[in-house]
Amino acid sequence: MNQMIDTMVTIQHVISHLEAIAPRQYQESYDNAGLIVGDPSQPVTGIITCLDSTEDVIDEALQRGCNLIVAHHPIIFKGLKTLTGKNYVERTIIKAIQKGVAIYAIHTNLDNVLHRGVNQRIGHMLGLQAVRVLAPKKANVQWLVMLTRDLENARKKLTSLGVHVLGGDSGTVHLIFPKGEKAKVQALLSELGVPFDQVVSMADPQQTVADLGSGLIGELPEAMEEEAFLDYVKLRMKAGCIRHTALRQKKIRRVALCGGAGGFLLPIAKANGADIFVTADYKYHEFFDADDKIIIADIGHFESEQYTIDMLQEILSEKFSSFATYCTSVRTNPVFYR
Ligand SMILES: [Zn+2]
Repeated sequence: MNQMIDTMVTIQHVISHLEAIAPRQYQESYDNAGLIVGDPSQPVTGIITCLDSTEDVIDEALQRGCNLIVAHHPIIFKGLKTLTGKNYVERTIIKAIQKGVAIYAIHTNLDNVLHRGVNQRIGHMLGLQAVRVLAPKKANVQWLVMLTRDLENARKKLTSLGVHVLGGDSGTVHLIFPKGEKAKVQALLSELGVPFDQVVSMADPQQTVADLGSGLIGELPEAMEEEAFLDYVKLRMKAGCIRHTALRQKKIRRVALCGGAGGFLLPIAKANGADIFVTADYKYHEFFDADDKIIIADIGHFESEQYTIDMLQEILSEKFSSFATYCTSVRTNPVFYR
């Protein structure tokens, strides 16, 4: 009997669970998050989580009897006109299709949510306190509503409409969604039995949503010497090397961070009084922008995001117990140090 229930978890069920945490509409416009290869109606036999869905990860999935890869980075980023296996992207896609392994990517949408997002995990690894989003996103429409019954079902339906649902412990939830969806959301609320005269509009279009946006900022419980802090980051983030700007002979207390290429957030990190900005993918000339106002610390792209692999595994294994979810054991980081 259990066996029958087990086969009922489909790829779509997994996607819905992930997108309740990081709704796909919160990905950046250049991104390609979502199901990249595969049939969403297929039952899941097992999942591998990773940063990069390379050919080796597909081999690993086959060895472990898994037919779904949940990756952070989308293997297809721009359009492909042919699939002939001339590069690693095409070879990976061909192999995935041939072997029946689905690939799903949860990328900038997972970067942009605070709760269980990429940056919250980094902040946790560094022991930061009082964390908040460094650059909160502007909301289109915000409604405050009371959802007293069947909250889980309501949340699911709203999320599938592309509404970001925040809060809910006391029945009061914030709904955030693009302006164009107003009529649809209103119709769904009336279907859910929420009288429209009880909806409080928070519709200041300039208002920001505190737990949605890029990067993270927080405080160390105790200020640390600069060298000691860099050593600590290196250890905690298993960084092969940290490239950083000049030290300022000032203790580190406030830390801004962003997993992956976060350079665009430097002015906001400075404006928020961060002592150091921990991120990746800095180029030579960009380091000058520290301008003695902050320390820029580039710890490596893979290193900054590596704990996302464990986080995704935790998110999936605590929800789905009828199949195994593994962190990849393949080292997909293409960068080596010596
Ligand atoms: Zn990344």
